[in-house]
Amino acid sequence: MEGDTSLEEIFRLTPAQKSALSKLRLESAENLLRHFPSRYETPIPALPIKSLRKGEEATVYGIIRNLKLGKTFRKRVAVAEGRLEDQTGSIKLIWFNQPYLAKMIGEGSPVRAIGKIAERKGELYLANPHVESISGIPAGAGESLFNEADSSSLLPVYPESRGISSLWIRHAIQKIIKAETISKLSDPIPKEILSRYNLPTLGTALIWIHAPKKENDALAARKRFAFEEVFLIQLSKLKERHEYEEKNSFTINKPEKDIGEFIKRFPFKATEAQEKAIAAILKDFQSGKPMSRLLEGDVGSGKTAVAAVTAYAAVTTRPGGKDFGTLQVAYMAPTEILAGQHFESFIQYFRHLPINIALITGSGCRKFPSKVDPSGWTDISRAQLMKWVANGEIAILIGTHTLIQKTVRFKDLAYIIIDEQHRFGTAQRAKLARKEDTLPHLLSMTATPIPRTLALTVYGDLDLTLLDEMPAGRKPIITEITPPEKRNAVYEKIREELKVGRQAYVICPRIDEPDPSKELALEAKSVKAEAKRLEEEVFPKHTVGILHSKMKPADKDETMLQFKNHEIDILVATSVVEVGVNVPNATNIIIEGAERFGLAQLHQLRGRVIRSNHQPYCYLFSEIKGGKSMDRLKALASAKNGFELAEKDLELRGAGELYGRKQWGISDVGMEAIKNVKMVEVARLEARRLIDENPELTKYPLLREKIESRVDTLHFE
Ligand code: ADP
Ligand code: MG
Repeated sequence: MEGDTSLEEIFRLTPAQKSALSKLRLESAENLLRHFPSRYETPIPALPIKSLRKGEEATVYGIIRNLKLGKTFRKRVAVAEGRLEDQTGSIKLIWFNQPYLAKMIGEGSPVRAIGKIAERKGELYLANPHVESISGIPAGAGESLFNEADSSSLLPVYPESRGISSLWIRHAIQKIIKAETISKLSDPIPKEILSRYNLPTLGTALIWIHAPKKENDALAARKRFAFEEVFLIQLSKLKERHEYEEKNSFTINKPEKDIGEFIKRFPFKATEAQEKAIAAILKDFQSGKPMSRLLEGDVGSGKTAVAAVTAYAAVTTRPGGKDFGTLQVAYMAPTEILAGQHFESFIQYFRHLPINIALITGSGCRKFPSKVDPSGWTDISRAQLMKWVANGEIAILIGTHTLIQKTVRFKDLAYIIIDEQHRFGTAQRAKLARKEDTLPHLLSMTATPIPRTLALTVYGDLDLTLLDEMPAGRKPIITEITPPEKRNAVYEKIREELKVGRQAYVICPRIDEPDPSKELALEAKSVKAEAKRLEEEVFPKHTVGILHSKMKPADKDETMLQFKNHEIDILVATSVVEVGVNVPNATNIIIEGAERFGLAQLHQLRGRVIRSNHQPYCYLFSEIKGGKSMDRLKALASAKNGFELAEKDLELRGAGELYGRKQWGISDVGMEAIKNVKMVEVARLEARRLIDENPELTKYPLLREKIESRVDTLHFE
């Protein structure tokens, strides 16, 4: 058996098992070896057979005798029978429908059997027991010392899914280990790195993680695998970085004076942090190399303005060697609402210039300016948009991910701006630009607060710029945790705010009334019912609107527009308003069932109300009284910004539960490294050392292979 031998070849699998394994993405022996336990159990003390009683769950050690295969008399179901013997007696074992289980163990071999004691016609038996071969009956199993049975080893418990039990996985892994498969696997991590940090080799770590003799061995093994994962991610990011550094890009050289004039027209003064970010980007633009920069700034820190100024530099520059046309910009947003909003903002920023701006989303295309009304936009067909993007007439194209569809071709795409999209690899970038050796500049913007260790890992290929300053005059948000008895007081405060002209959001965890058959859902407030209640009972003098993901895009737009124009006072919504929605006059937010949301998500939600100089308020409605969930809400109430919050979240919940963890494509074990600053730094140092010395990793074919297979699973959509 080799590492890449398929599990179907090794085991007889039922269709249910096959589908469960494929869901867990377990195909080969090595895959299974890399399916790690989520915890360990101290084995249940073994009972002497003499003392077994009907109805008990029991672990019994003994020798297998009298194995027989057959069929039941009436229903012709396959059965296997045998007896299990220890010094105190023997008991019958019966397996229905799984005779292969009996075949896996041999007559006379020592086993551990776990199962329920049943009785038939006065005789006790173990029905469908799980039986594991063991090398010998452990000291202590049996009459005298049975309570201490096998206490020296820990039993791994594996993450399971329907159709595949932890026990099955344990058996299967033991079988693979016995077949000496581990010794045939090569360790992707270079030996000198392992020894420098005292990490176990792959072989040792696999044994330690699946069959630890002591807890420390299991811990050391997990540490190695955590390191391995973070190291591989860093390596692939740095390799990617090296690849694009070899390419050329568009040189954009805009006089400072012009930039200053563009900014002067803004209705506000740029913050120092915005100025610095703009300067860093403009400097990258001059280098002739493709910029790859991450702009991380809390909600409301003004990332769109940075995007606009730098886009201005691009679209007022002629393509190399030509005296007509302009370079083009693509600006991608995660939702239609946001794309529409950026389109509107950009119209405001660029309306004094002869620049065509277009919007493309799943529900249609628009172009500014309109021929009939030069101060507004007009709907255009998709075909028309494609044509104008391809011939360069449209200089700025804003859109959702429809923008990266095959059919959109640019003439001279020089700059890609990505808003809140977590991964956008070199491949997408090259595809969008369709140039052989020239890559467009890339600015990725995010307000998702993530801990520094995670940022260093998942954004290892990008240069980082922080927008760590809020626009002048912004008041810090007042965040309160509101227990049920204080709700009315909060409603009263909000009525006061509405009276002086402000607006409010109410966020509910659900859209519809819950299905009564689903008990858990019952407590969560629904948008529709809550909107009705608020309108009729709580705020009868005000208008209430609703917004949720199941609405048609046109209806969503309509509602957003009404809210923006203050035709609606209170917007009851699901977390669809989470990303980027911008209505400066809305300064109050109530979050129902706040404990159901992740910390970062709550932070995003409350970011909706810090977009003007009015005092913002955030009320976290929750019925919980204490515990970890309450600690998290308290952290939210006290954290000054997203960066601080992300670190607290990591500290409170551990990396395994970090919000949005799935989108980073890091396993639970890998996430353990994220809590360990030193490990992340060391992984980065070693990855950098390898890439500097051997950028193509030709000397490390295994590492290269690992990275390439990772990239396949990670790529964005
Ligand atoms: P985010 O960083 O969350 O994307 P936006 O770019 O949407 O933030 O900006 C939030 C709001 O702040 C917008 O209404 C924008 O016009 C305004 N804004 C941006 N920069 C400044 C500034 N320097 N001073 C005052 N208001 C600003
Ligand atoms: Mg934004």
